[in-house]
Amino acid sequence: MKKLLTYCLPVMCLGAPLASADAVEERIDTLLETMTIEQKVGQLALRDFGTYSAEQIPALKEQIRQGEVGGFLNVNFSSVNDNAFAELQKIAVEESPQGIPLIFGQDVIHGYETIFPIPLGQAASWNPALVKKGARIAAEEATTDGIRWTFAPMIDISHDPRWGRIAETLGEDPFLASILGVAMTEGFQTDDPSRPDAMAASAKHFIGYGAAEAGRDYNAAYIPEARLRDTFLPPFKAAVDAGLMTIMSSYNTLNDIPATANQYALKTILRDEWGFDGFVVSDWNAVMEMLPHGFARDAKHAAELSANAGIDFEMYTDTYQQHLPQLIKEGKFTEAKLDQAVRHMLRVKMRLGLWENPYPRGNREAVILSDDHRQAAREAARESFVLLKNDNSILPLAPKTKIALIGPLANVPHEQLGTWIYNGNKKDSVPLVPALEQHLGGTDSFTFVQGLEYSRDTSTKGFGKAVEAAQQADVIVYVGGEESILSGEGHSRGDIALPGAQQELVKALSETGKPLVTVIMAGRPIELGKVRSQSDAIMMAWHPGTMAGPALVDVLYGEYSPVGRLPITWPKGEGQIPIYYNRMATGRPATDDNYTLIGEIELGVFQHGPGNSSNHLDYGHEPEFPFGFGLTYSEFEYSNLAIAKSRIALGETLKASATIKNTGKVKTTEVVQLYIRDLVASRTRPIRELKGFERVTLTPGESRVVEFEISTDALAFHNQKMEKVTEAGEFELWIAKDATSGLKGRFIVYE
Ligand code: BGC
Repeated sequence: MKKLLTYCLPVMCLGAPLASADAVEERIDTLLETMTIEQKVGQLALRDFGTYSAEQIPALKEQIRQGEVGGFLNVNFSSVNDNAFAELQKIAVEESPQGIPLIFGQDVIHGYETIFPIPLGQAASWNPALVKKGARIAAEEATTDGIRWTFAPMIDISHDPRWGRIAETLGEDPFLASILGVAMTEGFQTDDPSRPDAMAASAKHFIGYGAAEAGRDYNAAYIPEARLRDTFLPPFKAAVDAGLMTIMSSYNTLNDIPATANQYALKTILRDEWGFDGFVVSDWNAVMEMLPHGFARDAKHAAELSANAGIDFEMYTDTYQQHLPQLIKEGKFTEAKLDQAVRHMLRVKMRLGLWENPYPRGNREAVILSDDHRQAAREAARESFVLLKNDNSILPLAPKTKIALIGPLANVPHEQLGTWIYNGNKKDSVPLVPALEQHLGGTDSFTFVQGLEYSRDTSTKGFGKAVEAAQQADVIVYVGGEESILSGEGHSRGDIALPGAQQELVKALSETGKPLVTVIMAGRPIELGKVRSQSDAIMMAWHPGTMAGPALVDVLYGEYSPVGRLPITWPKGEGQIPIYYNRMATGRPATDDNYTLIGEIELGVFQHGPGNSSNHLDYGHEPEFPFGFGLTYSEFEYSNLAIAKSRIALGETLKASATIKNTGKVKTTEVVQLYIRDLVASRTRPIRELKGFERVTLTPGESRVVEFEISTDALAFHNQKMEKVTEAGEFELWIAKDATSGLKGRFIVYE
């Protein structure tokens, strides 16, 4: 049996002290002794450079000179002013009393100038190495400009695709988001964050932001403690264990307490339970947003609440500077707490080696958008694509097929980049039309008609030409979805169907009777409705980034088989939301019709079934596509499920394996998934939980035994006393292609 490396949460330490930890703490002690209260408070000020007018800059520089600014965010250095960064840093390093360097941060979310797929797309690769490489490349590029801190990874769990920021997440599952969040953190930070090309990562948003009610951004979140600990916190805990250097708190209230002043989250959990020793930054303006929350009376009260709760670095607003010195005098805050916050700051700055390398590392011409980086972005894009339907193997396209390329997103360099792209530039972005032209050596075998001017266009005036082109082609490739602005921060949608007149256009195209391939670019799963049956093939491409066009060509023409799997459940429509695979079972057994159930159930039906009867009359209970789902250009057969020991003691490791065979015609990668269910426990447990996955690449006819090992610790959950425990009892296990299928076995854990 060939043993493969399965993905598990690493026990490793990215933040391993470089100079000895003691030496760092001693340096901090020495600095603290020389600092005034104003200088200490100044270290906690994170300024948004972009919000300063030219007239305000001299006063800002003077503040830096006095040692009263800790860092800056979101200055687009390369395009605004090449020298701004170095100029400000020089003042801090050479002219301020202690010479403490500034830290420069930015939202480097999915690439810097070479843009990778949106994080949700990267998550669809289920490939930690790829996610890590994307972050590494982003850091290599951003650090040329002196940005040593990124506001990523975003590891909020969300069950609601209406929420615009779902595009930035790593999916709905705590296990997958933990693995990929750690990979991204590792990519940014490396195992030696003092390298001039390393960045401190900031996991966000702590905590509960993805649970915004109705998917409306910034909305209140209500999360019971057990769910918080079992579902929302694990990705953050995994990142902290991996040496994460900074954390960003969130805008939302969690159970009516703003996250910005949430002592329980920021102190009890983060510091006392997890031992996090980096700094916590507030979200932008979030300290002052406790006024509209109705939680703080005024700016001074907001400073008191957030500083006491454990926000170290105040983003954008200046309530700390205005009020902490006075609050200390009044005994409402203490200098010891101030020192602690400054210590967190200085620790991160020292671990980054900012004293040794305070300035931009330069070399941008050689690094930014290099051939290697573009190639990596192309690979990342094609691994992110999820093939959802492929009737009659319409894909891949035969080389000489005559194509009608239609749709509002087939040739728009900007829209394929997605949300949060400060430095990404449409001039570097290659859409499908030029990529196809290059691949086919001209335009003879394809016709491009946009059909709609943009994704929300409601005018049908372009339909005639589109249909005409379709009629003359062998195959129609429709590229639609959502333009970038329909997802991201503050961009939630109540209706997640294809916007504008796209559904009508797809219908008109399908009525030509020509085979129709629908490619969707979007920041979220889209309600497909009839588009599903009208299309012969459907491929989810997310927002793929700079190299969208070449990557699409690679996959459409079969140079590369799709390998992506959904990192999120794809609903039939908004009415099913919230929807997620790892839901709790209902008491009612599965039935097609709830109403005939009552009075007809035999006692024997009450086994530990999926409890699926919580359906909608119109939607049923199944989603459009389940979590983990995705087709390839080949077929895989699963057989020989083997569980090494079907009874294991608490503390032992379970070994389960299955044979995976490529029964199709193409060499490609299968993502083999391991799920478990705890059948009877002191709290109801999810009907399935992902506990492992393995990517196996097999040639046609080749088979391999894939083995998983899981310790009984991985089966733990929080019981009614909030203790994390694995309870003895019976479990089900699946080795599966997705969250609804698979080979099923059972095992018992005993005390
Ligand atoms: C967002 C954060 C982001 C910050 C800085 C906020 O509005 O919620 O995710 O990092 O702005 O740009």
